[in-house]
Amino acid sequence: MTQRKGTISVQTSDIFPIIKKWLYSEHDIFIRELVANATDAISKRATIARTQNQEIPEGKIEVKVNKTKKIITITDNGLGMSEEEVEKYIAQLAFSGAEEFVKKMQDSGTETNDIIGKFGLGFYSAFMVSDKVEVETLSMNEGATPVHWSCEGDTEYLFSESKKETIGTTITLHINEESVEFLDQFKLSATLRNFCDFMPYPILVSDEEKTTETVKDKDGNETQKAIEPTQVNDTTPLWRKDPSTLKDEDYKDFYRKLYPMDGEPLFWIHLKVDHPFTLEGILYFPKINRNKPFNESNIRLYCKQVFVSDNVKNIIPEFLSLLKGSIDSSDIPLNVSRSSLQGDPNVRRISSYIIKKVGEALKKLYKKDRPRYEQIWEDIGLFIKYGCVSDVKFDELMRERVIFKNSENKYMTLTEYAESIPENYKEKLKDKIIYFEKDKSDYSLKSELLNEKIQTIEIDEYIDPHFIQHVETHKVGDKQFSFSSIDSEIGNIFEEQNTTESDVKIKELFSNILYKDVKEDDPTRSDIEIGNLKNSSTAAYFKVDEQMKRMANMVKSMGQDTPFPIKKTLVVNSSNALVQNALKISEKGGNEALVEKICHHVGDLALISSEGLTSENKESFVKRSQDLIQELSSQLI
Ligand code: ADP
Ligand code: MG
Repeated sequence: MTQRKGTISVQTSDIFPIIKKWLYSEHDIFIRELVANATDAISKRATIARTQNQEIPEGKIEVKVNKTKKIITITDNGLGMSEEEVEKYIAQLAFSGAEEFVKKMQDSGTETNDIIGKFGLGFYSAFMVSDKVEVETLSMNEGATPVHWSCEGDTEYLFSESKKETIGTTITLHINEESVEFLDQFKLSATLRNFCDFMPYPILVSDEEKTTETVKDKDGNETQKAIEPTQVNDTTPLWRKDPSTLKDEDYKDFYRKLYPMDGEPLFWIHLKVDHPFTLEGILYFPKINRNKPFNESNIRLYCKQVFVSDNVKNIIPEFLSLLKGSIDSSDIPLNVSRSSLQGDPNVRRISSYIIKKVGEALKKLYKKDRPRYEQIWEDIGLFIKYGCVSDVKFDELMRERVIFKNSENKYMTLTEYAESIPENYKEKLKDKIIYFEKDKSDYSLKSELLNEKIQTIEIDEYIDPHFIQHVETHKVGDKQFSFSSIDSEIGNIFEEQNTTESDVKIKELFSNILYKDVKEDDPTRSDIEIGNLKNSSTAAYFKVDEQMKRMANMVKSMGQDTPFPIKKTLVVNSSNALVQNALKISEKGGNEALVEKICHHVGDLALISSEGLTSENKESFVKRSQDLIQELSSQLI
């Protein structure tokens, strides 16, 4: 064959500098593109060989570096190309694809980052790192002649003779000054591992200049030993395998390999579907690291085992963004901008399929292994509730399976809660769920309730305010629940309603003492009410307005300060001995100081068992406690 020059027919003559500039930040994708092409070529060869009943060679991709010559070669034993094919696919098609790509980039203006590297560029990306690219190839077609093609990154190229004897293609990259880092075998291997970690044929990396190493044998003699190329990929990722052949240990091993710094995964889902779209993958529920931001994505997206992106925002709904693992689908459009991904029907279908699968898997776990479900609830609960609030389908699957810790630290669903209410209270508490806020609600009331065998459920301050609101507008099973904080009006269920003469006196006494120096309209001033609790051990508690509290919680869960103080009422228990003593001493007269101390103490006790004392309150509380005990003990001496 004689040499032949050709011209690339592109209209955008400055295409090379544009691509180099735009893609600079992601120029390591060249390796993915070239290895992906090699992979395609190998599987195409296998398909053709099969139809022709030919022998199918074992596919293999060799990547070699040579620092001195500044070259990287990528060799495959795929189907190869004839001269016409190189002309058509490499010189014209690949280039026109690149041209189209550049046009898109120019049109889209600011969205460059979104289009970059999503399979729009292919072979062309080789020029991002090379001054010159050579293709040497021998087609699998009978009687084919080998071809050599080279191009120095402008619109001219050259065909020349080749002596290639084996079927397949070798791409030689003459690495440019800015990209010499890739000539380092370790850097190259790391890049390959990132982009090609699960490509379907072995990728073997070697350094042409380091083919042997010196080793000492057991007698201490030095001998030369050949260095074997290192394989950088795992050709059969777990998601490709048949789930029925896999054991828990296989899933855990795979997880460890992907996330060596993590502990064990809690739970996983193996996705497999081939109609109406293709999707394979494994999603893991990790143990949540509460110190790490939630919004970073840990799911890697593949297309036929070729790594595409670790941004799966539009495919995985936000509430599942805590999951880790891989998704492999050839039906996700890769070369379009991300904003249009959202509208893509396949992406929407895939997304709802994933949501459904995750929901079903959790439902199954709930049914089959409730203890395990409860064991991991701490980690999965947050996103299950988040999922219920944000996705209708997921909500349908999981709403009834959301569990809460009760006052005895056992988990129960809302339906189980309703069933646990003792018969004599069922009518009074009709489908009302009493909740308790950790570090905020009055725990003395919690034990009051427990005395009556009424549980309370514990809620958090992040997602539960939203979840509660959601449940109040959606039935759980056939029940329409409503919620009441333990320290809201619900406290009334223990009180006997008739007010006695001494109740009036107690109220007066406490108001006069506690709010002696506080103005009527001071927002810190609470109303005082007299309650007559069945259980006399609680001296007083704070009752809050349910609606106001909810509003405040909502505001807080969105990370803002409450703009208003929540109205509280101090309920003083007239059946409590301490309260009664205060009244008696005061009626006897002559020891006002002690009465004052008791009243303030009762007020502080109510604070302590709910939100806790403020720092000023704390000081006076400590001093008063000292005084009181001292007074008491000195009387006994
Ligand atoms: P795409 O892979 O999206 O088709 P590329 O620009 O990556 O676009 O490649 C263009 C074409 O060049 C391929 O479709 C294929 O026909 C041919 N090609 C590229 N690399 C190889 C290879 N290693 N072996 C055989 N054909 C190849
Ligand atoms: Mg390609």
